[in-house]
Order: sequence, then structure tokens, then C-alpha cells
Amino acid sequence: MNPFVFKNPTKLVFGKGQNEELANEVKRYGKKVLVVYGGGSIKRNGLYDHVISQLSEINAEVTELAGVEPNPRLTTVRKGIELCRENDIEFILAVGGGSVIDATKAIAVGAKYDGDIWDVITKKDTPSSALPFGTILTLAATGSEMNAGSVITNWETSQKVGWGSPYSFPTFSILDPKNTLSVPEDQTIYGMVDMMSHVIEAYFHHAENTPLQDRIMESILLTVMETAPKLLADLNNIEHRETILYCGTMALNGITQMGLRGDWATHNIEHAVSAVYDIPHAGGLAIIFPHWMRNSLDERIERHVQLATRVLGVDPEGKSDREFALEGIDKLSAFWTELGAPNRLADYDIDESQIDRMAGIAVENGEFGNFRKLNKDDVKKILTEAL
Ligand code: NAP
Ligand code: FE
Repeated sequence: MNPFVFKNPTKLVFGKGQNEELANEVKRYGKKVLVVYGGGSIKRNGLYDHVISQLSEINAEVTELAGVEPNPRLTTVRKGIELCRENDIEFILAVGGGSVIDATKAIAVGAKYDGDIWDVITKKDTPSSALPFGTILTLAATGSEMNAGSVITNWETSQKVGWGSPYSFPTFSILDPKNTLSVPEDQTIYGMVDMMSHVIEAYFHHAENTPLQDRIMESILLTVMETAPKLLADLNNIEHRETILYCGTMALNGITQMGLRGDWATHNIEHAVSAVYDIPHAGGLAIIFPHWMRNSLDERIERHVQLATRVLGVDPEGKSDREFALEGIDKLSAFWTELGAPNRLADYDIDESQIDRMAGIAVENGEFGNFRKLNKDDVKKILTEAL
């Protein structure tokens, strides 16, 4: 494996009943609190009332930013930064899924940054501080609750950009599975595809001698694959919700990637697709990932073979490595389709007309992918095969 340094400062407050810890956590950071949330799911499931009552217990002065959109936008981040400045905000609380948390990360950094936050997101400049922020996660998917990553869309320029800094880790994240009971079926499916994709991105790496990392990744994938059908058959099952919630965090809190560098090209291609079509992130991943895998077979085929054997249950008897790997990819794709995820770009009414543009957005900063380098033609091929 590669030498590494690991630091993850986020305090994870996990499990049934942990919603009650909110007041205790927030009171360490100040009284002027900005509460950030999305389109209203937290009002419908009662979490909003709980948050407000916990904050009033510690006499917090609450300012709100509602309406963070899925695939959060730069315009909303800017609104949040303004609110922080106008109200001398001391602490930000994100209540929602990855979109709310990602927007909050940009607001927290932007509130302490003198210039335009877009310069930080596009890596023209690096920040040197942020307002502290915590999260209450309501959707198991992105891992944003325990990592420093954030993905922000600039709708005017059709760019969806991932960024992160040492200042964009949440100080704490409360993960009470009760908060995920109201997640509808489609978002539950997307969440499970997203967390599996995070592990698979990491699984395709060039580091040698990573037996423990491989087993950690395989355990997460197998646990999601065992639990997913049970959860979809019984969306109110708190135990299955809890298992999936834990998997989502473990899939992208840095543990799988100690001593190795994952690929991440599929995420980059998906961001280019969402920047043009505003589709759900994991819907795009379910469509694109199998095509990326088929196009990467010649790069360390043993990684494909190992995934097919240990996770996807392919019988190696009488097959070449290539046939074996291809059967694994077909099984993965079929698994996602059976869960109910889309498997063609046409499922989102995407045709060939924007492929050149999307490929151009994906390679804006040059060739990409740590396992296999992709150029614009490679991306066009993958997207065309995914039509
Ligand atoms: P999301 O965009 O945060 O939420 C999707 C939908 O689910 C929203 O309509 C939301 O409604 C609803 N929802 C959330 N919690 C709910 C609940 N408990 N009950 C009912 N509905 C609920 O979804 P996400 O998959 O978590 O985040 C996707 C974003 O994260 C994308 O922009 C993606 O690119 C990014 N991402 C980030 C990372 C990272 O590491 N930072 C990794 C992968 C992806 P409301 O708006 O009403 O709440
Ligand atoms: Fe993702």
C-alpha cells in the first residue's frame, strides 16, 4: 500500500435516539445558529419541530436557510453566506441529505472567506478557516456527513464541481436512523447505489498489497447488497435503515481509501451529465458505472476478477478472465436494475445531442481518472454506450 496520514475530525453520534443529543452538541459552539435545510421533507416528518425545540432549550437565536435544492446551487450558497454575515452567525446546522450538507460546507467556508466562494470551489484559491458546522443526516447516501467533500452546481456556467478542504469537515454529525424512515423508495435506491459506487470507485486502484482495504470494501458492498432487498421490501424497518445508514458513512469517510487512491472518473462523468440535465446523482452513476467498467477491463483485470469473485458471486469455472470480469459487470448492472435504478440515459430522455458538450465539461481540467486516464473521446464512447 502507499504511505498515508489519516485524520477525520468529525464526531459521529450514531444510533437510535441520538436526535436527543442535538442541544448538547450545538451549545459548545455558540448561540447564533443558521439552520440549513431542503425542500421541506423535515417539516413533513417532524424533524424540524424537534430541531427547533432542542435549539430553544439552549436559547439559540435561529436564522433559517430553507430550499436547498438537490444538486445544490451556487446561488443558494451565496444566499447562505449573506445570511451568516448579516446575522453574525456562530454555528451552522445542516439538516438534510448530501445536498444540504454540501451547501452548508460551502457556506461555512464562504462566510470566513474574503473573496468569491466560487474561486475556492474551482480551486483558484485555498481557504484558511470556516465557521464550525454540524449535521443531522436524513438520507443514507453520500457520506458527506463524515468527509470534507462538497459538490456545488453553477447553473449559469453548467459546471458541477467537487471540492474540499481541511475546514469542510463537520464538527459533529448526528445519524439517527429514525430520520431516514421517511425517505421514499426512489431516494432509498439512489442512496444505496451512491454508497456502492463510492466503494467501487475506491476498489479500482493501482496500489499493491491492500488486503485489509479490499476486505473492508467488500464487506461494505456485501452488506449493502444483502440488506437492500430486505429494506426495499420493508421501508419502515428501522434495523435495515440503521445498517444502510452505517454503510453509507463507512463507504466515504476515508477508511476505505487509506493507502490507496481510487479512480473517481465515473463521478466526474456523472457530474458533467447532471450539470447539463439536473438528474439525480446516483441515477446517473447506475447508468454510467457498468460502461466505465467495461471500458477499463484492460487496466489491471485482476481487480475486476477479484470483485466478480468475492462480491458479485460469479463462478470462474471454464471462463477467461475477460469473460469472468464481464459477467461480474453484468451482474452488478442487473442488481441495480432489479432494485429499481435506471440503466440507460434514455430513461432520463437524454439523447446523443449533448454528448459532445457533456464530454467537454468532463475534461475541462484535462484527462482524469486515477485508475484509468480518460480523454474526451473515451468519455464520448462511454456516454454513447450508455444511451
Ligand atoms: P439530496 O439531494 O440531499 O436529497 C434528495 C431528495 O431526498 C430531496 O428531495 C430531499 O428532500 C429528499 N429527502 C432527504 N431526506 C429525506 C427524508 N428523511 N425523508 C424524505 N425525503 C428526504 O440527496 P443525496 O443523495 O443525499 O445528495 C446528493 C448530492 O450529494 C448530489 O449533489 C451529489 O453530487 C452530492 N454528493 C456528495 C458527496 C460528498 O462526499 N460530499 C458524495 C456523493 C454525492 P428535501 O429537499 O425536502 O429535504
Ligand atoms: Fe456519489
